[in-house]
Amino acid sequence: MGGKVFTFSDIFFAKDDVIARIIKAMPQEEIAMALRRESTEIRKRFYKNLPSLDDSQNLKEEIKVNDAELPERIKAKEKMLAIIAEHPEYKNYRFQSRFLSFEEFTGYLTKKSKPEKPYGFAAEDTPSSSFFGSQNGEQALEEIKKKNKAEEHESFRIPNTKIYLINYSVCPKCGKIYSFKALSHHYLNPKPDPTFKKGKEAQLRQDARMFCTGAGCKIHFLPSLLVVDDIIPKNEVQFLGPMHTLNAIEDYFEALGYAVLTRDVNNLLKSDGVTTRVFRDLDEDARHGFATAVFNPPSTSPPSKILKGIRNDVFLKELESRPTLINNLLQYSVKPEIALNLIQGVNVEKNDAIFGKWR
Ligand SMILES: [Zn+2]
Repeated sequence: MGGKVFTFSDIFFAKDDVIARIIKAMPQEEIAMALRRESTEIRKRFYKNLPSLDDSQNLKEEIKVNDAELPERIKAKEKMLAIIAEHPEYKNYRFQSRFLSFEEFTGYLTKKSKPEKPYGFAAEDTPSSSFFGSQNGEQALEEIKKKNKAEEHESFRIPNTKIYLINYSVCPKCGKIYSFKALSHHYLNPKPDPTFKKGKEAQLRQDARMFCTGAGCKIHFLPSLLVVDDIIPKNEVQFLGPMHTLNAIEDYFEALGYAVLTRDVNNLLKSDGVTTRVFRDLDEDARHGFATAVFNPPSTSPPSKILKGIRNDVFLKELESRPTLINNLLQYSVKPEIALNLIQGVNVEKNDAIFGKWR
């Protein structure tokens, strides 16, 4: 299964005929835009492949004076990557992709999108918790925020935006409210369900249902994740635990023919207490157990055995048709700088590890 990712800086390793093809297909001004903030090494690949010294001198000058803004530079880079993608040598690659700006990204998150099919096992006939479908959503939301705050869980704010992601978890039958912490606890210790023949690990990955413990209620429901612009709720997607998010993203790419995240063993990272390195020798069972080890490490495990995280090999933009996965991935991105890299589409270049710790 293919799965290699090509980021813009990989142009440095592209063969001369690939660079020559870009030079032929793109106007000099656009090439200059794409290279404006790139290293001398990458620029040199282009100078070298221009037909004459005069041409390379011209490109150098153009790069110096070019003052294109970031969105234009991103467009020019993506045009280059699209030209490379046509080359047969790269047919099994996925190419770096990104949102053009924070404004575009915020617009994407707050725009009403086509509802997605629920994620996880048995989700389709399970009732959902819905802010927009509820009479007293505002009041329940305030209570949830209060509860989260009392349990020291701050609402996740997407860096460089005023967008907050807040769990809206209200039982649709009895109205009982659940905090982020309660959801987290449940997802790590779900009520055992014999339907999961492959055992607890499979359930942890696939069972996104919350079980209501309200008196006489005892139903499963699907909590939602509210996209709130400053103080105004704008959108609602399904709330997923980190393992469901991981699993759903892996399934999404697998259907496209790519093994990503834990399905590529090269992404599994462990810590030996001093450094973090790739864990290459995991067998199938260990790979499945990996998520449990990360999110719910046994307290007896010595530090040397602790699995540390998953090297990220997906771009948010690739998940554009799945806002649920984008929002949930962001809420589990652990550190603000990782969320920023995800939004800017530079996370693979920066070698970010995600899902490292249960927040
Ligand atoms: Zn209930």
